[in-house]
Amino acid sequence: MKEQQLLENELSRIDGRGYKAYKDIRGEYDFDDFTLIVDYVQGDPFATPSKVIVHVPDEISQFPSDTYENKSREVALRDFLTREFFRNAGKYSKGNRGTGSSGLISIDRPGQQILERTSVFINEKGVEVRFSLGLPAFGRKVAGRQAIDMFFDEIPAIVVNSLFYENLDKNRLYDHIKTNEDADYLRDALLERGLIAFVGDEAILPRKTGITQKPLEREEAVPFSSAESMKEEFELPNYGKASGMGIPKGVNLIVGGGYHGKSTLLNAIELGIYNHIPGDGRERVVSVPGSVKIRAEDGRYIEKTDISPFISNLPFGKDTKQFCSENASGSTSQAANIIEALEAGAECLLIDEDTSATNFMIRDKRMQELIAKEKEPITPFIDKAREMYNDYGVSSVLVIGGSGDYFDVADKVVGMDNYIPSDLTLKAKEIAGETQREKEGGEYFGRITQRSPFSKGVDAAMGKKVKLKSQGVKAIQFGSERIELHSVEQLVDESQTRAIAHAVYYARKYMDGERGLPDILNKVLYDIEQSGLDVINPRSGQLAGFRKIELASAINRLRTLKVRQLDQE
Ligand code: ADP
Ligand code: MG
Repeated sequence: MKEQQLLENELSRIDGRGYKAYKDIRGEYDFDDFTLIVDYVQGDPFATPSKVIVHVPDEISQFPSDTYENKSREVALRDFLTREFFRNAGKYSKGNRGTGSSGLISIDRPGQQILERTSVFINEKGVEVRFSLGLPAFGRKVAGRQAIDMFFDEIPAIVVNSLFYENLDKNRLYDHIKTNEDADYLRDALLERGLIAFVGDEAILPRKTGITQKPLEREEAVPFSSAESMKEEFELPNYGKASGMGIPKGVNLIVGGGYHGKSTLLNAIELGIYNHIPGDGRERVVSVPGSVKIRAEDGRYIEKTDISPFISNLPFGKDTKQFCSENASGSTSQAANIIEALEAGAECLLIDEDTSATNFMIRDKRMQELIAKEKEPITPFIDKAREMYNDYGVSSVLVIGGSGDYFDVADKVVGMDNYIPSDLTLKAKEIAGETQREKEGGEYFGRITQRSPFSKGVDAAMGKKVKLKSQGVKAIQFGSERIELHSVEQLVDESQTRAIAHAVYYARKYMDGERGLPDILNKVLYDIEQSGLDVINPRSGQLAGFRKIELASAINRLRTLKVRQLDQE
Protein backbone atom coordinates (compact mmCIF):
# COMPACT_ATOMS: atom_id res chain seq x y z
CA MET A 1 0.00 0.00 0.00
CA LYS A 2 1.25 3.47 -0.90
CA GLU A 3 0.98 6.66 1.13
CA GLN A 4 -1.70 9.09 -0.03
CA GLN A 5 1.08 11.65 -0.55
CA LEU A 6 2.34 9.51 -3.44
CA LEU A 7 -1.00 9.83 -5.22
CA GLU A 8 -0.87 13.58 -4.86
CA ASN A 9 2.73 13.71 -6.14
CA GLU A 10 1.81 11.47 -9.06
CA LEU A 11 -1.18 13.64 -10.04
CA SER A 12 0.99 16.78 -9.88
CA ARG A 13 3.63 15.08 -11.98
CA ILE A 14 1.24 14.00 -14.77
CA ASP A 15 -0.70 17.29 -14.83
CA GLY A 16 -0.99 18.46 -18.44
CA ARG A 17 0.34 15.17 -19.86
CA GLY A 18 -1.57 12.87 -22.24
CA TYR A 19 -4.61 11.15 -20.69
CA LYS A 20 -2.94 7.71 -20.78
CA ALA A 21 -0.59 8.92 -18.03
CA TYR A 22 -3.49 8.35 -15.60
CA LYS A 23 -2.74 4.62 -15.90
CA ASP A 24 0.14 5.27 -13.50
CA ILE A 25 -2.17 6.02 -10.57
CA ARG A 26 -3.60 2.50 -10.41
CA GLY A 27 -3.03 1.00 -6.98
CA GLU A 28 -3.90 1.09 -3.33
CA TYR A 29 -3.44 4.16 -1.14
CA ASP A 30 -3.55 4.66 2.59
CA PHE A 31 -5.77 7.65 3.38
CA ASP A 32 -6.05 8.60 7.05
CA ASP A 33 -9.42 7.02 7.73
CA PHE A 34 -9.75 4.62 4.83
CA THR A 35 -8.01 2.78 2.04
CA LEU A 36 -8.59 3.92 -1.52
CA ILE A 37 -8.02 1.65 -4.48
CA VAL A 38 -7.89 2.97 -8.01
CA ASP A 39 -9.03 -0.30 -9.54
CA TYR A 40 -9.57 0.56 -13.18
CA VAL A 41 -8.47 3.62 -15.13
CA GLN A 42 -10.48 4.72 -18.15
CA GLY A 43 -8.66 5.03 -21.49
CA ASP A 44 -9.97 8.49 -22.38
CA PRO A 45 -12.35 11.09 -20.95
CA PHE A 46 -15.28 9.73 -22.98
CA ALA A 47 -14.84 6.06 -22.09
CA THR A 48 -16.61 4.25 -19.25
CA PRO A 49 -15.52 6.13 -16.09
CA SER A 50 -12.77 4.80 -13.85
CA LYS A 51 -13.52 2.50 -10.94
CA VAL A 52 -12.58 3.20 -7.36
CA ILE A 53 -13.01 1.09 -4.23
CA VAL A 54 -12.90 2.49 -0.70
CA HIS A 55 -12.51 0.43 2.49
CA VAL A 56 -13.38 1.99 5.81
CA PRO A 57 -12.18 -0.17 8.73
CA ASP A 58 -14.70 -1.07 11.38
CA GLU A 59 -12.86 0.97 14.06
CA ILE A 60 -13.68 4.05 12.00
CA SER A 61 -17.07 3.27 10.44
CA GLN A 62 -18.40 1.76 13.70
CA PHE A 63 -21.65 0.21 12.59
CA PRO A 64 -23.34 -1.54 15.52
CA SER A 65 -23.79 -5.23 14.78
CA ASP A 66 -27.60 -4.96 14.93
CA THR A 67 -27.49 -2.96 11.70
CA TYR A 68 -26.35 -6.05 9.80
CA GLU A 69 -26.89 -9.03 12.10
CA ASN A 70 -29.04 -10.98 9.62
CA LYS A 71 -29.38 -11.06 5.83
CA SER A 72 -32.44 -8.75 5.75
CA ARG A 73 -30.72 -6.10 7.82
CA GLU A 74 -27.45 -6.43 5.98
CA VAL A 75 -29.06 -5.95 2.56
CA ALA A 76 -31.04 -2.98 3.86
CA LEU A 77 -27.97 -1.34 5.41
CA ARG A 78 -25.97 -1.77 2.20
CA ASP A 79 -28.86 -0.32 0.21
CA PHE A 80 -29.15 2.61 2.61
CA LEU A 81 -25.44 3.39 2.41
CA THR A 82 -25.58 3.29 -1.39
CA ARG A 83 -28.36 5.87 -1.29
CA GLU A 84 -26.44 8.05 1.16
CA PHE A 85 -23.31 7.87 -0.96
CA PHE A 86 -25.32 8.82 -4.05
CA ARG A 87 -26.88 11.77 -2.26
CA ASN A 88 -23.59 13.01 -0.83
CA ALA A 89 -21.84 12.60 -4.19
CA GLY A 90 -24.38 15.09 -5.53
CA LYS A 91 -23.75 17.38 -2.60
CA TYR A 92 -19.96 17.31 -2.29
CA SER A 93 -18.70 16.78 -5.81
CA LYS A 94 -18.27 19.82 -7.95
CA GLY A 95 -19.68 18.04 -11.00
CA ASN A 96 -18.41 18.75 -14.46
CA ARG A 97 -14.69 19.52 -14.49
CA GLY A 98 -13.78 19.40 -18.13
CA THR A 99 -14.07 17.03 -21.08
CA GLY A 100 -16.37 13.97 -21.19
CA SER A 101 -17.09 12.49 -17.78
CA SER A 102 -14.46 14.73 -16.08
CA GLY A 103 -15.43 15.39 -12.46
CA LEU A 104 -18.11 12.73 -12.18
CA ILE A 105 -18.40 10.82 -8.92
CA SER A 106 -21.26 8.35 -9.02
CA ILE A 107 -22.55 5.13 -7.58
CA ASP A 108 -25.29 2.71 -8.49
CA ARG A 109 -28.64 4.40 -7.93
CA PRO A 110 -31.37 2.39 -6.21
CA GLY A 111 -35.05 3.04 -6.93
CA GLN A 112 -38.15 2.16 -4.86
CA GLN A 113 -36.98 -1.39 -4.20
CA ILE A 114 -34.36 -2.56 -1.73
CA LEU A 115 -32.13 -4.96 -3.64
CA GLU A 116 -28.93 -6.79 -2.87
CA ARG A 117 -26.20 -4.77 -4.63
CA THR A 118 -22.47 -4.87 -5.25
CA SER A 119 -22.09 -1.12 -4.63
CA VAL A 120 -21.60 -1.51 -0.87
CA PHE A 121 -20.53 -4.41 1.35
CA ILE A 122 -20.25 -4.67 5.11
CA ASN A 123 -18.84 -7.14 7.59
CA GLU A 124 -17.10 -7.04 10.98
CA LYS A 125 -13.91 -5.78 9.28
CA GLY A 126 -15.61 -2.69 7.89
CA VAL A 127 -17.38 -1.18 4.90
CA GLU A 128 -16.44 -1.45 1.25
CA VAL A 129 -17.89 0.86 -1.38
CA ARG A 130 -17.42 0.66 -5.15
CA PHE A 131 -18.05 3.70 -7.29
CA SER A 132 -17.20 5.44 -10.56
CA LEU A 133 -14.96 8.41 -11.11
CA GLY A 134 -14.55 10.50 -14.24
CA LEU A 135 -10.84 11.34 -14.13
CA PRO A 136 -10.72 14.98 -15.20
CA ALA A 137 -9.16 16.26 -18.40
CA PHE A 138 -9.05 19.34 -20.54
CA GLY A 139 -9.27 18.00 -24.05
CA ARG A 140 -7.14 14.88 -23.74
CA LYS A 141 -4.72 16.31 -21.21
CA VAL A 142 -4.68 15.27 -17.57
CA ALA A 143 -6.22 17.91 -15.29
CA GLY A 144 -4.03 17.05 -12.29
CA ARG A 145 -5.11 19.86 -9.98
CA GLN A 146 -8.77 19.00 -10.49
CA ALA A 147 -8.01 15.33 -9.84
CA ILE A 148 -6.28 16.28 -6.59
CA ASP A 149 -9.40 18.17 -5.49
CA MET A 150 -11.54 15.15 -6.28
CA PHE A 151 -9.36 12.65 -4.43
CA PHE A 152 -8.45 14.77 -1.43
CA ASP A 153 -11.50 16.99 -0.83
CA GLU A 154 -14.58 15.53 -2.49
CA ILE A 155 -14.14 11.79 -1.97
CA PRO A 156 -13.20 12.12 1.72
CA ALA A 157 -16.21 14.38 2.34
CA ILE A 158 -18.52 11.89 0.67
CA VAL A 159 -17.00 8.94 2.51
CA VAL A 160 -17.08 10.59 5.93
CA ASN A 161 -20.70 11.67 5.55
CA SER A 162 -22.01 8.44 4.02
CA LEU A 163 -20.07 5.61 5.61
CA PHE A 164 -19.38 6.70 9.19
CA TYR A 165 -22.19 5.55 11.45
CA GLU A 166 -21.90 8.62 13.68
CA ASN A 167 -22.70 10.94 10.77
CA LEU A 168 -25.87 9.16 9.63
CA ASP A 169 -29.47 9.88 10.54
CA LYS A 170 -30.15 6.93 12.87
CA ASN A 171 -33.93 7.17 12.65
CA ARG A 172 -33.95 6.90 8.89
CA LEU A 173 -31.32 4.17 8.94
CA TYR A 174 -33.23 1.98 11.41
CA ASP A 175 -36.53 2.65 9.68
CA HIS A 176 -34.98 1.35 6.45
CA ILE A 177 -33.55 -1.73 8.14
CA LYS A 178 -36.69 -2.57 10.10
CA THR A 179 -39.00 -2.04 7.15
CA ASN A 180 -36.93 -4.46 5.09
CA GLU A 181 -36.78 -7.03 7.86
CA ASP A 182 -40.56 -6.89 8.31
CA ALA A 183 -41.20 -7.36 4.59
CA ASP A 184 -38.95 -10.43 4.46
CA TYR A 185 -40.67 -11.81 7.53
CA LEU A 186 -44.10 -11.25 5.99
CA ARG A 187 -43.15 -12.90 2.70
CA ASP A 188 -41.70 -15.90 4.54
CA ALA A 189 -44.92 -16.23 6.53
CA LEU A 190 -47.25 -16.37 3.50
CA LEU A 191 -47.17 -20.03 2.57
CA GLU A 192 -47.87 -21.45 6.01
CA ARG A 193 -51.04 -19.35 6.04
CA GLY A 194 -51.94 -20.76 2.65
CA LEU A 195 -51.45 -17.38 0.97
CA ILE A 196 -49.66 -16.32 -2.18
CA ALA A 197 -49.86 -12.59 -1.48
CA PHE A 198 -50.68 -10.07 1.20
CA VAL A 199 -51.68 -6.42 0.73
CA GLY A 200 -51.46 -4.41 3.93
CA ASP A 201 -54.27 -2.10 5.00
CA GLU A 202 -53.44 1.57 4.40
CA ALA A 203 -51.02 0.68 1.59
CA ILE A 204 -50.76 3.19 -1.23
CA LEU A 205 -50.78 1.20 -4.45
CA PRO A 206 -51.17 3.72 -7.31
CA ARG A 207 -48.08 5.41 -8.71
CA LYS A 208 -47.68 9.07 -9.54
CA THR A 209 -47.48 8.52 -13.29
CA GLY A 210 -47.23 5.64 -15.72
CA ILE A 211 -43.49 6.14 -16.02
CA THR A 212 -42.39 6.39 -12.41
CA GLN A 213 -42.48 4.06 -9.44
CA LYS A 214 -42.98 6.95 -7.01
CA PRO A 215 -46.28 6.84 -5.10
CA LEU A 216 -49.30 8.99 -5.89
CA GLU A 217 -49.63 11.81 -3.33
CA ARG A 218 -51.44 10.63 -0.21
CA GLU A 219 -54.20 13.22 -0.63
CA GLU A 220 -55.05 11.85 -4.09
CA ALA A 221 -54.84 8.15 -3.32
CA VAL A 222 -57.43 5.89 -1.74
CA PRO A 223 -55.53 3.81 0.85
CA PHE A 224 -55.99 0.06 0.56
CA SER A 225 -58.48 -1.59 2.85
CA SER A 226 -59.00 -5.35 2.95
CA ALA A 227 -62.25 -7.13 2.15
CA GLU A 228 -63.59 -8.18 5.56
CA SER A 229 -63.70 -11.93 4.83
CA MET A 230 -60.14 -11.95 3.54
CA LYS A 231 -58.55 -10.09 6.42
CA GLU A 232 -55.34 -11.54 7.83
CA GLU A 233 -53.21 -10.32 10.67
CA PHE A 234 -49.48 -10.77 11.17
CA GLU A 235 -47.27 -9.89 14.10
CA LEU A 236 -44.20 -8.33 12.50
CA PRO A 237 -40.86 -8.21 14.35
CA ASN A 238 -40.65 -4.40 14.23
CA TYR A 239 -43.93 -2.86 13.10
CA GLY A 240 -46.07 -5.05 15.34
CA LYS A 241 -49.58 -6.01 14.25
CA ALA A 242 -50.21 -5.60 10.53
CA SER A 243 -53.61 -6.34 9.04
CA GLY A 244 -54.46 -6.59 5.38
CA MET A 245 -55.89 -8.74 2.64
CA GLY A 246 -54.58 -12.25 2.15
CA ILE A 247 -54.83 -13.72 -1.32
CA PRO A 248 -55.10 -17.49 -0.95
CA LYS A 249 -53.53 -20.25 -3.00
CA GLY A 250 -55.78 -21.40 -5.82
CA VAL A 251 -57.44 -19.53 -8.66
CA ASN A 252 -58.21 -15.89 -7.84
CA LEU A 253 -60.06 -13.34 -9.93
CA ILE A 254 -59.93 -9.59 -9.62
CA VAL A 255 -63.05 -8.14 -11.21
CA GLY A 256 -64.72 -4.74 -11.26
CA GLY A 257 -65.50 -1.84 -13.55
CA GLY A 258 -62.93 -0.21 -15.77
CA TYR A 259 -60.74 2.32 -13.95
CA HIS A 260 -61.58 0.90 -10.53
CA GLY A 261 -58.03 -0.14 -9.69
CA LYS A 262 -57.75 -3.77 -10.85
CA SER A 263 -54.46 -3.47 -12.72
CA THR A 264 -52.99 -1.27 -10.00
CA LEU A 265 -53.65 -4.01 -7.44
CA LEU A 266 -52.14 -6.67 -9.68
CA ASN A 267 -49.06 -4.52 -10.35
CA ALA A 268 -48.51 -4.12 -6.63
CA ILE A 269 -48.74 -7.91 -6.16
CA GLU A 270 -46.28 -8.39 -9.04
CA LEU A 271 -43.70 -6.18 -7.34
CA GLY A 272 -44.44 -7.80 -3.99
CA ILE A 273 -41.54 -10.12 -4.83
CA TYR A 274 -39.39 -7.12 -3.78
CA ASN A 275 -39.20 -5.11 -0.57
CA HIS A 276 -39.93 -1.40 -0.81
CA ILE A 277 -38.36 1.62 0.85
CA PRO A 278 -40.10 3.49 3.67
CA GLY A 279 -42.55 5.98 2.18
CA ASP A 280 -43.16 3.94 -0.97
CA GLY A 281 -46.67 2.92 0.09
CA ARG A 282 -46.03 -0.77 -0.65
CA GLU A 283 -43.85 -1.54 2.39
CA ARG A 284 -46.28 -4.26 3.49
CA VAL A 285 -47.34 -5.60 0.10
CA VAL A 286 -45.66 -8.94 -0.55
CA SER A 287 -46.08 -11.97 -2.75
CA VAL A 288 -44.41 -15.38 -2.87
CA PRO A 289 -40.97 -15.34 -4.52
CA GLY A 290 -42.21 -17.49 -7.40
CA SER A 291 -44.93 -15.07 -8.55
CA VAL A 292 -44.59 -14.49 -12.25
CA LYS A 293 -46.34 -11.89 -14.38
CA ILE A 294 -47.47 -13.42 -17.64
CA ARG A 295 -48.47 -11.49 -20.73
CA ALA A 296 -48.76 -11.77 -24.46
CA GLU A 297 -45.55 -10.83 -26.22
CA ASP A 298 -45.95 -11.10 -29.95
CA GLY A 299 -42.75 -11.07 -31.92
CA ARG A 300 -40.72 -12.97 -29.34
CA TYR A 301 -38.36 -15.82 -30.14
CA ILE A 302 -39.32 -19.30 -28.98
CA GLU A 303 -36.99 -22.29 -29.03
CA LYS A 304 -38.54 -25.77 -28.75
CA THR A 305 -41.02 -24.98 -25.99
CA ASP A 306 -43.75 -27.58 -25.55
CA ILE A 307 -46.87 -25.43 -25.67
CA SER A 308 -49.16 -28.39 -26.41
CA PRO A 309 -51.12 -28.00 -23.15
CA PHE A 310 -52.54 -24.82 -24.73
CA ILE A 311 -52.04 -25.13 -28.45
CA SER A 312 -52.25 -28.03 -30.86
CA ASN A 313 -53.34 -28.77 -34.43
CA LEU A 314 -51.90 -25.63 -35.95
CA PRO A 315 -52.37 -25.07 -39.70
CA PHE A 316 -49.73 -26.82 -41.86
CA GLY A 317 -49.26 -29.37 -39.07
CA LYS A 318 -46.76 -27.14 -37.27
CA ASP A 319 -45.42 -28.94 -34.22
CA THR A 320 -46.51 -27.49 -30.88
CA LYS A 321 -44.70 -30.08 -28.73
CA GLN A 322 -41.44 -28.52 -29.89
CA PHE A 323 -42.69 -25.12 -30.86
CA CYS A 324 -40.20 -22.77 -32.48
CA SER A 325 -40.82 -19.26 -33.69
CA GLU A 326 -38.83 -16.22 -34.74
CA ASN A 327 -41.97 -14.17 -34.45
CA ALA A 328 -44.58 -15.63 -32.11
CA SER A 329 -48.22 -14.53 -32.16
CA GLY A 330 -50.09 -13.10 -29.17
CA SER A 331 -51.51 -16.45 -28.09
CA THR A 332 -48.46 -18.62 -28.80
CA SER A 333 -46.20 -16.14 -27.00
CA GLN A 334 -48.46 -16.10 -23.97
CA ALA A 335 -48.60 -19.90 -23.95
CA ALA A 336 -44.80 -20.10 -24.16
CA ASN A 337 -44.44 -17.53 -21.39
CA ILE A 338 -46.56 -19.72 -19.12
CA ILE A 339 -44.85 -23.00 -19.94
CA GLU A 340 -41.40 -21.46 -19.55
CA ALA A 341 -42.42 -19.88 -16.23
CA LEU A 342 -43.57 -23.30 -15.01
CA GLU A 343 -40.34 -24.87 -16.24
CA ALA A 344 -38.37 -22.24 -14.28
CA GLY A 345 -40.27 -22.95 -11.07
CA ALA A 346 -43.17 -20.48 -10.92
CA GLU A 347 -45.47 -20.80 -7.89
CA CYS A 348 -48.13 -18.36 -8.98
CA LEU A 349 -49.07 -16.72 -12.30
CA LEU A 350 -50.32 -13.13 -12.49
CA ILE A 351 -52.29 -12.29 -15.60
CA ASP A 352 -54.03 -9.08 -16.64
CA GLU A 353 -56.62 -9.01 -19.37
CA ASP A 354 -55.14 -5.65 -20.47
CA THR A 355 -51.98 -7.37 -21.65
CA SER A 356 -53.34 -10.75 -22.69
CA ALA A 357 -54.38 -12.20 -26.01
CA THR A 358 -58.19 -12.40 -25.87
CA ASN A 359 -58.37 -15.73 -27.70
CA PHE A 360 -55.87 -17.16 -25.23
CA MET A 361 -58.01 -16.16 -22.25
CA ILE A 362 -61.60 -16.92 -23.31
CA ARG A 363 -63.78 -18.89 -25.72
CA ASP A 364 -67.41 -18.47 -24.86
CA LYS A 365 -70.42 -20.69 -25.41
CA ARG A 366 -71.48 -19.05 -28.65
CA MET A 367 -68.01 -19.33 -30.14
CA GLN A 368 -67.87 -22.97 -29.08
CA GLU A 369 -71.07 -23.54 -31.05
CA LEU A 370 -69.92 -21.67 -34.13
CA ILE A 371 -66.32 -22.94 -34.31
CA ALA A 372 -65.92 -26.60 -33.43
CA LYS A 373 -63.24 -27.59 -30.93
CA GLU A 374 -61.34 -29.46 -33.70
CA LYS A 375 -61.04 -26.21 -35.67
CA GLU A 376 -59.62 -24.20 -32.78
CA PRO A 377 -55.96 -24.89 -31.97
CA ILE A 378 -56.11 -22.92 -28.71
CA THR A 379 -57.27 -24.31 -25.40
CA PRO A 380 -57.92 -21.07 -23.51
CA PHE A 381 -56.42 -20.46 -20.09
CA ILE A 382 -59.86 -20.73 -18.48
CA ASP A 383 -59.75 -24.47 -19.24
CA LYS A 384 -56.31 -24.94 -17.67
CA ALA A 385 -56.23 -22.64 -14.61
CA ARG A 386 -57.85 -25.21 -12.30
CA GLU A 387 -55.80 -28.11 -13.71
CA MET A 388 -52.58 -26.14 -13.32
CA TYR A 389 -53.37 -25.74 -9.63
CA ASN A 390 -54.52 -29.33 -9.13
CA ASP A 391 -51.62 -30.96 -10.98
CA TYR A 392 -48.73 -28.63 -10.18
CA GLY A 393 -49.90 -26.54 -7.22
CA VAL A 394 -49.43 -23.34 -9.21
CA SER A 395 -51.91 -20.64 -8.22
CA SER A 396 -53.11 -17.73 -10.31
CA VAL A 397 -54.38 -14.20 -9.90
CA LEU A 398 -56.30 -13.03 -12.93
CA VAL A 399 -57.62 -9.57 -13.68
CA ILE A 400 -60.75 -10.27 -15.67
CA GLY A 401 -63.26 -7.47 -15.99
CA GLY A 402 -64.88 -8.76 -19.15
CA SER A 403 -65.77 -12.44 -18.84
CA GLY A 404 -67.94 -14.06 -16.18
CA ASP A 405 -67.09 -17.49 -17.61
CA TYR A 406 -64.11 -17.43 -15.25
CA PHE A 407 -66.46 -17.70 -12.24
CA ASP A 408 -66.65 -21.42 -13.06
CA VAL A 409 -63.00 -22.02 -12.23
CA ALA A 410 -62.35 -19.45 -9.51
CA ASP A 411 -61.83 -20.14 -5.82
CA LYS A 412 -61.97 -16.48 -4.93
CA VAL A 413 -63.53 -13.49 -6.70
CA VAL A 414 -62.40 -10.08 -5.48
CA GLY A 415 -64.38 -7.11 -6.74
CA MET A 416 -62.76 -3.67 -6.96
CA ASP A 417 -65.12 -0.76 -6.45
CA ASN A 418 -63.61 2.72 -6.32
CA TYR A 419 -60.26 1.14 -5.42
CA ILE A 420 -61.70 -0.80 -2.48
CA PRO A 421 -61.91 -4.59 -2.68
CA SER A 422 -64.78 -6.77 -1.54
CA ASP A 423 -65.29 -10.51 -1.59
CA LEU A 424 -67.78 -11.39 -4.34
CA THR A 425 -67.08 -15.13 -4.38
CA LEU A 426 -70.49 -16.32 -3.21
CA LYS A 427 -72.42 -14.06 -5.52
CA ALA A 428 -70.24 -15.01 -8.49
CA LYS A 429 -70.66 -18.71 -7.75
CA GLU A 430 -74.42 -18.28 -7.57
CA ILE A 431 -74.42 -16.69 -11.01
CA ALA A 432 -72.04 -19.31 -12.39
CA GLY A 433 -74.53 -22.04 -11.54
CA GLU A 434 -76.73 -20.94 -14.43
CA THR A 435 -74.33 -21.06 -17.40
CA GLN A 436 -73.18 -24.12 -19.33
CA ARG A 437 -70.00 -23.45 -21.21
CA GLU A 438 -68.33 -26.65 -22.47
CA LYS A 439 -65.07 -27.56 -20.73
CA GLU A 440 -62.46 -28.10 -23.41
CA GLY A 441 -59.18 -28.60 -21.58
CA GLY A 442 -59.39 -32.23 -20.54
CA GLU A 443 -58.82 -33.56 -17.06
CA TYR A 444 -55.12 -32.71 -16.72
CA PHE A 445 -52.95 -29.72 -17.40
CA GLY A 446 -50.53 -31.70 -19.54
CA ARG A 447 -46.82 -32.32 -19.39
CA ILE A 448 -44.24 -29.61 -18.78
CA THR A 449 -41.31 -30.69 -20.90
CA GLN A 450 -37.86 -29.72 -19.68
CA ARG A 451 -35.29 -28.48 -22.13
CA SER A 452 -31.53 -28.57 -22.08
CA PRO A 453 -29.69 -25.66 -23.70
CA PHE A 454 -26.44 -26.04 -25.64
CA SER A 455 -23.66 -23.61 -24.69
CA LYS A 456 -22.81 -23.11 -28.35
CA GLY A 457 -25.88 -20.95 -28.89
CA VAL A 458 -25.01 -18.71 -25.94
CA ASP A 459 -21.95 -16.95 -27.24
CA ALA A 460 -21.38 -13.29 -26.45
CA ALA A 461 -18.15 -12.94 -28.40
CA MET A 462 -17.96 -10.03 -30.74
CA GLY A 463 -14.76 -10.37 -32.69
CA LYS A 464 -12.11 -11.08 -30.08
CA LYS A 465 -13.98 -9.41 -27.23
CA VAL A 466 -16.91 -10.57 -25.15
CA LYS A 467 -19.62 -7.95 -25.15
CA LEU A 468 -22.19 -7.99 -22.33
CA LYS A 469 -24.20 -4.87 -21.60
CA SER A 470 -27.51 -3.75 -20.29
CA GLN A 471 -29.38 -1.31 -22.50
CA GLY A 472 -31.68 0.31 -20.00
CA VAL A 473 -33.72 -1.98 -17.78
CA LYS A 474 -35.38 -3.89 -20.58
CA ALA A 475 -32.70 -5.02 -23.03
CA ILE A 476 -29.34 -6.72 -23.06
CA GLN A 477 -26.63 -6.54 -25.64
CA PHE A 478 -25.22 -10.05 -25.75
CA GLY A 479 -22.38 -10.20 -28.25
CA SER A 480 -23.95 -9.17 -31.51
CA GLU A 481 -27.44 -10.17 -30.32
CA ARG A 482 -29.97 -7.99 -28.55
CA ILE A 483 -32.09 -9.71 -25.90
CA GLU A 484 -35.43 -7.93 -25.74
CA LEU A 485 -36.91 -7.88 -22.22
CA HIS A 486 -39.63 -5.24 -22.61
CA SER A 487 -42.30 -7.76 -21.62
CA VAL A 488 -40.45 -9.08 -18.60
CA GLU A 489 -42.39 -6.83 -16.28
CA GLN A 490 -40.89 -7.78 -12.93
CA LEU A 491 -37.42 -6.55 -13.86
CA VAL A 492 -37.13 -3.16 -12.17
CA ASP A 493 -33.52 -2.05 -12.12
CA GLU A 494 -30.84 -1.74 -14.77
CA SER A 495 -28.28 -3.27 -12.41
CA GLN A 496 -30.40 -6.43 -12.34
CA THR A 497 -30.40 -6.46 -16.13
CA ARG A 498 -26.62 -5.96 -16.18
CA ALA A 499 -26.20 -8.83 -13.72
CA ILE A 500 -28.47 -11.06 -15.78
CA ALA A 501 -26.39 -10.33 -18.90
CA HIS A 502 -23.34 -11.67 -17.07
CA ALA A 503 -25.30 -14.54 -15.53
CA VAL A 504 -26.50 -15.78 -18.93
CA TYR A 505 -22.90 -15.89 -20.05
CA TYR A 506 -21.78 -17.50 -16.80
CA ALA A 507 -24.52 -20.15 -17.11
CA ARG A 508 -22.81 -21.50 -20.23
CA LYS A 509 -20.46 -23.51 -18.08
CA TYR A 510 -23.41 -25.65 -16.97
CA MET A 511 -24.92 -26.01 -20.43
CA ASP A 512 -24.01 -29.33 -21.99
CA GLY A 513 -27.15 -30.42 -23.79
CA GLU A 514 -27.79 -32.90 -20.93
CA ARG A 515 -28.60 -30.79 -17.91
CA GLY A 516 -32.09 -29.32 -17.80
CA LEU A 517 -32.63 -25.58 -17.70
CA PRO A 518 -34.11 -25.64 -14.15
CA ASP A 519 -30.99 -27.37 -12.88
CA ILE A 520 -28.78 -24.81 -14.63
CA LEU A 521 -30.74 -21.92 -13.13
CA ASN A 522 -30.43 -23.43 -9.67
CA LYS A 523 -26.69 -23.94 -10.09
CA VAL A 524 -26.11 -20.32 -11.12
CA LEU A 525 -28.25 -18.97 -8.30
CA TYR A 526 -26.51 -21.30 -5.83
CA ASP A 527 -23.08 -20.04 -6.90
CA ILE A 528 -24.27 -16.47 -6.41
CA GLU A 529 -25.68 -17.30 -3.00
CA GLN A 530 -22.39 -18.91 -1.96
CA SER A 531 -19.93 -16.41 -3.42
CA GLY A 532 -21.92 -13.28 -4.14
CA LEU A 533 -22.64 -11.55 -7.44
CA ASP A 534 -18.87 -11.20 -7.90
CA VAL A 535 -18.81 -14.75 -9.30
CA ILE A 536 -20.57 -13.60 -12.46
CA ASN A 537 -18.60 -10.35 -12.85
CA PRO A 538 -15.87 -9.67 -10.30
CA ARG A 539 -15.37 -6.23 -8.72
CA SER A 540 -18.26 -4.55 -10.46
CA GLY A 541 -20.12 -2.08 -8.28
CA GLN A 542 -23.13 -2.09 -10.58
CA LEU A 543 -24.86 -5.42 -10.14
CA ALA A 544 -28.12 -6.12 -8.32
CA GLY A 545 -29.83 -9.33 -7.27
CA PHE A 546 -32.34 -11.07 -9.53
CA ARG A 547 -34.48 -14.23 -9.58
CA LYS A 548 -33.95 -17.39 -11.56
CA ILE A 549 -37.25 -16.61 -13.31
CA GLU A 550 -35.82 -13.47 -14.94
CA LEU A 551 -32.57 -15.27 -15.76
CA ALA A 552 -34.65 -17.90 -17.55
CA SER A 553 -36.57 -15.16 -19.36
CA ALA A 554 -33.34 -13.74 -20.74
CA ILE A 555 -31.97 -17.13 -21.81
CA ASN A 556 -35.27 -18.01 -23.48
CA ARG A 557 -35.31 -14.78 -25.47
CA LEU A 558 -31.77 -15.06 -26.80
CA ARG A 559 -32.34 -15.55 -30.51
CA THR A 560 -29.35 -17.84 -30.97
CA LEU A 561 -30.46 -20.22 -28.19
CA LYS A 562 -30.58 -23.89 -29.17
CA VAL A 563 -31.98 -26.58 -26.89
CA ARG A 564 -32.77 -30.27 -26.80
CA GLN A 565 -35.93 -31.50 -25.12
CA LEU A 566 -35.41 -33.99 -22.34
CA ASP A 567 -37.58 -37.10 -22.15
CA GLN A 568 -39.05 -37.53 -18.74
CA GLU A 569 -40.92 -40.79 -18.73
P1 ADP B 1 -58.49 -0.88 -14.06
O1 ADP B 1 -57.41 -1.88 -14.30
O2 ADP B 1 -59.52 -1.39 -13.11
O3 ADP B 1 -59.10 -0.37 -15.30
P2 ADP B 1 -56.38 0.82 -13.04
O4 ADP B 1 -55.77 -0.03 -11.99
O5 ADP B 1 -55.65 0.96 -14.32
O6 ADP B 1 -57.89 0.39 -13.31
O7 ADP B 1 -56.58 2.24 -12.37
C1 ADP B 1 -57.16 3.32 -13.05
C2 ADP B 1 -56.58 4.64 -12.55
O8 ADP B 1 -56.86 4.83 -11.19
C3 ADP B 1 -55.07 4.73 -12.68
O9 ADP B 1 -54.72 5.99 -13.14
C4 ADP B 1 -54.57 4.49 -11.28
O10 ADP B 1 -53.35 5.14 -11.04
C5 ADP B 1 -55.68 5.09 -10.44
N1 ADP B 1 -55.77 4.39 -9.15
C6 ADP B 1 -55.66 3.07 -8.94
N2 ADP B 1 -55.80 2.78 -7.63
C7 ADP B 1 -56.01 3.96 -7.00
C8 ADP B 1 -56.22 4.33 -5.63
N3 ADP B 1 -56.23 3.42 -4.67
N4 ADP B 1 -56.37 5.64 -5.36
C9 ADP B 1 -56.36 6.56 -6.34
N5 ADP B 1 -56.18 6.28 -7.63
C10 ADP B 1 -55.99 5.00 -7.97
MG1 MG C 1 -56.69 -2.59 -16.12
